Amino acid sequence: MNTASGFDSRIFGFGMPRLVMGTGARNQLAEHAQAFGQRACVVSDPGVAAQPQFHELLQSLQAAGLQVTTYTEVLPDPPLRIVEDCAQVARTCEADLIVGVGGGSALDVAKIAAVLKQHEVPIESMFGTDQTPGRGIPTILLPTTAGTGSEVTPIAVLSDEAHDLKRGIVSDDLLADYALVDPELCLTLPPAPTAYTGMDTLTHAIEAYTNKFAVPLIDAFALEAVRLVATCLSRAVHHGDDRDARYGMSLASLLGGLCLKSVNTAAVHALAYPLGGRFHVPHGVANSLLLPHVMRFNAPVAADRYATIGEVMGSTDCVAAVEALSADVGTDKRMREFGVEQQHISEMATAAMEVQRLLKNNPREVTLPDAQAIYEQAW
Ligand code: NAD
Repeated sequence: MNTASGFDSRIFGFGMPRLVMGTGARNQLAEHAQAFGQRACVVSDPGVAAQPQFHELLQSLQAAGLQVTTYTEVLPDPPLRIVEDCAQVARTCEADLIVGVGGGSALDVAKIAAVLKQHEVPIESMFGTDQTPGRGIPTILLPTTAGTGSEVTPIAVLSDEAHDLKRGIVSDDLLADYALVDPELCLTLPPAPTAYTGMDTLTHAIEAYTNKFAVPLIDAFALEAVRLVATCLSRAVHHGDDRDARYGMSLASLLGGLCLKSVNTAAVHALAYPLGGRFHVPHGVANSLLLPHVMRFNAPVAADRYATIGEVMGSTDCVAAVEALSADVGTDKRMREFGVEQQHISEMATAAMEVQRLLKNNPREVTLPDAQAIYEQAW
């Protein structure tokens, strides 16, 4: 049977945290936190913790009578030792719940620390799909980038420094109890991270819509996310106080995140892993610089889907539309700008081939020589 997507019908699952989205959603934090206990461990990174809104959130919890302990040392592309430190803080303060405030890095650390507070297992034992020992203590996640959509995903991505690789932990046990998505938390995000996190959202949406395992429900989220990014990202980057654009990008990020559980990403993300893990290229930049090259590679087998993406972006050529947006917001970078030398390409391609969890979703099979050729084009 054919579905409206043009793909064979297939069984898929869908799940998400309880969601509150909109301007002022953050003001519900204390009310929902109280329902989970008296001791909250709030997880963030130094950049977010320096913002006045972060302190307002802490004050709201304290005013509601909660004991608050903070862990604000999260690093981008968080290494395992950061997650272990955070879990130790949560154990020491006997946290009843974890509140994650930040971009994907802080939210991912919050998710895993919540599991480790409940179950003392090595983090490495959880890499892969459905390897967690069970749910952790309750979590409430507030994103401050738009973004990864991590607030609604069952995924955490960590840096395995021993292997110079980023690795994923995927399990419904990681789904937050609440996602509070308040676009005003992104108002302080500077133009550069606004741009690259927004391109990450666009990549989620495009890789879900052109995925080998695409499904109609997720198609709708993905196309709306593409439309919102095309309409709002440039405004959010060039006019950071444009509340309407910030709202559009927070919604796009949320929709992009909702694509990840049932469908997930594909070759762009797989090839981006070595760039983040070894060369510390920010996640959104890595995706952005690879996206047009992977799209060109995929185009012969996904022409109809790419045509629809182009339509939604207002262009007859979706790769050109993505390149124009990337140039407008300043994410049109090349790998060599980040210390990657041409001789690294072969080992990076070998490392990317390990990420079969995502490569298997790509509409066109990616072989080792294909991966090398895509890196060469992006170099
Ligand atoms: P990030 O969390 O690493 O944050 C980037 C920078 O932005 C930090 O320096 C931070 O201090 C700053 N920042 C964030 N919000 C701010 C604000 N409102 N005001 C001022 N500064 C602010 O960036 P990210 O792109 O959101 O997250 C990337 C991480 O998420 C990567 O590790 C990536 O692999 C992971 N990821 C996870 C998922 C998932 O489903 N769990 C999906 C995609 C990506």
